[in-house]
Amino acid sequence: MAPIPGSGLAKGLAVTLRTMTRKSVTAQYPDTQPDLPPRTRGVIGLFEENCTVCMLCARECPDWCIYIDSHKETVPAATPGGRERSRNVLDRFAIDFSLCMYCGICIEVCPFDALFWSPEFEYAETDIRELTHERDKLREWMWTVPAPPALDPGAEEPKEIAAARKTAEKLAAAQAEPEEPTEPQEGES
Ligand code: SF4
Ligand code: SF4
Repeated sequence: MAPIPGSGLAKGLAVTLRTMTRKSVTAQYPDTQPDLPPRTRGVIGLFEENCTVCMLCARECPDWCIYIDSHKETVPAATPGGRERSRNVLDRFAIDFSLCMYCGICIEVCPFDALFWSPEFEYAETDIRELTHERDKLREWMWTVPAPPALDPGAEEPKEIAAARKTAEKLAAAQAEPEEPTEPQEGES
């Protein structure tokens, strides 16, 4: 059956009218920041206090884009007669985000909770060589990492929190105990 003349135009106008009256969903970025989900993979933040320079992240990274340099330092014995220990000191921690594929393996394998996803995504550069970000920048991003979601009401208490709570309780109990009166010395009245 031949189409009615002008029906195409009517349909087109109907679509236009429908769209004109619908609420716009265009995000006005950058004037309005997007509301990102908490586990967004924007960039990787480094909490360097937790990093023991174990090199696991660099070894497991499929793109070999984590660069770590360190040196060894001797720590004096903690007790008299004890042994000196040596520890790794971080000199450089950098990630080349022009190679990173955001797989998250480095974050998953870090045994010391030193790497985290940050939702920060505005780190575009005009030169690809500028996409290698050093520890200062990774540390800055660390402060943009959202707090972890609350535990389920029935969940077991994390062992770190349980240990910290027990220590705090012991300290509080020791402080609350009344001091024992001292025995009067000989010759004292
Ligand atoms: S997210 Fe993946 S590719 Fe990127 S640095 Fe970590 S391990 Fe490497
Ligand atoms: S795996 Fe974690 S602790 Fe080990 S070097 Fe990487 S960031 Fe540091």
